Amino acid sequence: MDFAYDARTEELRATLLDFMDSHIYPAESVFAAQLAQLDDRWAWDSVPVLAELRAEARRRGLWNLFLPGEHGAGLTNAQYAPLAEITGRSAHLAPAVLNCAAPDTGNMEVLALFGDEHQRERWLEPLLDGRIRSAFAMTEPDVASSDATNIATRIERDGDDYVLNGRKWWITGAMNPNCQIFIVMGKTDPAAGRHRQQSMILVPRDTPGLEIQRGMEVFGYDDHDHGGHAELSFTDVRVPAANLIGGEGAGFAIAQARLGPGRIHHCMRAIGIAERAVELMCARAEQRVAFGKPLAEQGVIRDWIAESRVKLEQLRLLVLKTAWLMDTVGNKGAHTEIQAIKIATPSTVQWILDKAIQVHGAGGLSQDFPLAAAYAGIRTLRFADGPDEVHKNALAKSELSRQRETR
Ligand SMILES: Cc1cc2nc3c(=O)[nH]c(=O)nc-3n(C[C@H](O)[C@H](O)[C@H](O)COP(=O)(O)OP(=O)(O)OC[C@H]3O[C@@H](n4cnc5c(N)ncnc54)[C@H](O)[C@@H]3O)c2cc1C
Repeated sequence: MDFAYDARTEELRATLLDFMDSHIYPAESVFAAQLAQLDDRWAWDSVPVLAELRAEARRRGLWNLFLPGEHGAGLTNAQYAPLAEITGRSAHLAPAVLNCAAPDTGNMEVLALFGDEHQRERWLEPLLDGRIRSAFAMTEPDVASSDATNIATRIERDGDDYVLNGRKWWITGAMNPNCQIFIVMGKTDPAAGRHRQQSMILVPRDTPGLEIQRGMEVFGYDDHDHGGHAELSFTDVRVPAANLIGGEGAGFAIAQARLGPGRIHHCMRAIGIAERAVELMCARAEQRVAFGKPLAEQGVIRDWIAESRVKLEQLRLLVLKTAWLMDTVGNKGAHTEIQAIKIATPSTVQWILDKAIQVHGAGGLSQDFPLAAAYAGIRTLRFADGPDEVHKNALAKSELSRQRETR
């Protein structure tokens, strides 16, 4: 068993680490200051520093690294994993600079895998080029959306068009005016089998009847530096039939295909967030003196530091194994492991962030450190792309059946 990264990964890691030090970390405060100056606070990707950083990332070959195959950088999951981890260290900036930020990554994958030539030319190309952004609209306020077969928005055929009616919420990125295309999931045939009722369709932002209602907040954060999370309504929204992706009834299968890579990307970045938290925790513990000695000399603090390191190493190995399995046996073959990392990562990283916040005292909860915002963000990952309980339920089901077969 070889735990070393291959030569291409090592080369890209070196380039990316250098870029993080020379450009990304110094730009974090500039990005925040420029965001604060915006007239429209949702238009986050219009800030000048982002354009400068993106040009430099492209020059260094750090662009679309997430996308395998002809449309992207052609990396395997195992090659991309350690790079995504590094971008997670500056989760609000680096993924966007490298054009590797959710939800665009998943949407580009959908278009690359299931879009036809016209759809790819019209929407995939500008997304790959970083000129526009996109949203994925599945979740609805009126139904339990962790069960995708519940999705109730209607997509009805009418001549050469489809007509959409329904409501969505938590649609990431949608408050940003440059989020120009929505991939919307809805029901084309309520009478079909449970997994064949849903379809996906492309809805341009300016289509009449599509209303952006409001931004949703996460513990009071509006996430405007990611384009927010919007509630949307669709009232007799009419789009050409050619906007359907992959045919009627393919929606559920496309949603499943989209979520495999999406989940592993989130997990890789989350490990980077945790690494940065451990760095901050150690630095603070050594600087801060209470009751006559640095916090780092308290046994309980050392316990948190040691536990954090052990948990992180375990997590990284599981995520890398999952990436390797996705490359070797495919997303379907790696299904159980994808569920395992989606269960393990958010709660483990949340635990580490919690300890890092505790070491910082009340300051850890404030805007002066990135920990509180990271904590809020990681808590959402226990819902986004499926709640913990849904993954545990599915994993336990396959474990029980495996054990039954062995018996
Ligand atoms: C920050 C953020 C960003 C998001 N971005 C997007 C986006 O861009 N696009 C999009 O479409 N959606 C997005 N979502 C929505 C997210 O995918 C949903 O919240 C998630 O799928 C759960 O659906 P729900 O909220 O309707 O929960 P429900 O389906 O109502 O479930 C509620 C709870 O029921 C329990 N539960 C459900 N099923 C089971 C089970 N089988 N066993 C045991 N317990 C169970 C779980 O505890 C679950 O949390 C986002 C969410 C957040 C928080």
